[in-house]
Amino acid sequence: MKLTDSAFLVGGSAYGISAAGDCNTYLIDCGGDLALVDTGGGSGVKTILENIRLDGFDTKRLKVAFLTHCHFDHIGGAHELKQLTRCKLLAHEDEAGAIVNLDENVLMDMARDRGLNFKAPKLDETVRDGDCITVGEVGINVLHTPGHTPGCMSLSITERDGKKGIFTGDIASTTGRLGFINGPGFDLPKWKSSIKRLISEKPDRIYPGHNTFMLRGATNDLMLTDQKMNAPWTTIVTSVG
Ligand SMILES: [Zn+2]
Ligand SMILES: [Zn+2]
Repeated sequence: MKLTDSAFLVGGSAYGISAAGDCNTYLIDCGGDLALVDTGGGSGVKTILENIRLDGFDTKRLKVAFLTHCHFDHIGGAHELKQLTRCKLLAHEDEAGAIVNLDENVLMDMARDRGLNFKAPKLDETVRDGDCITVGEVGINVLHTPGHTPGCMSLSITERDGKKGIFTGDIASTTGRLGFINGPGFDLPKWKSSIKRLISEKPDRIYPGHNTFMLRGATNDLMLTDQKMNAPWTTIVTSVG
């Protein structure tokens, strides 16, 4: 599903376009070559690839899949995706151990409760803050945005129309929604800092791992999250969701 000239939504159970348990999965059109952000929970890989084809792309051009963080709903499809497309798998260096060992941070019990099971992916490369990964014509910039998990990363691009888009994984959602907090590896002060960091990047658009994307006014939208994260806890608790 085309969102902009550069960004396509190709997976996401919330939108009914792939399997249950899938986070939002985005395709970046890098001028022929393709990059994927996250891979879903593991049972939607073939549907995600079909969605890429339906959007008019050749899945053989998929060069890289970025794993924003280790949670099962983001990495579950990675092993199968790599087998089917031979794309590279990249994650932040602070998240690599959790991903390749499927350790407690991955939330495998929660995955199994939802009927998901998958093999641990092998990573081709790890990245760190400030890295720029070039795919086709597009430089994809790595921002280390910890807090949801230790090695959460966001990915920033300049889109074809000149606007700045950031793929935020689960560190920032839209409309002030906080999402899943208090899992293993959760760190509230770091999370708050990461939201401020994202605001300082002044994105026009954000593409989160859950909930809806924001194609205009994303920086102001992030400020809502910032306010909520720094509000009295009673306000936070009553507004989670
Ligand atoms: Zn998560
Ligand atoms: Zn998630």
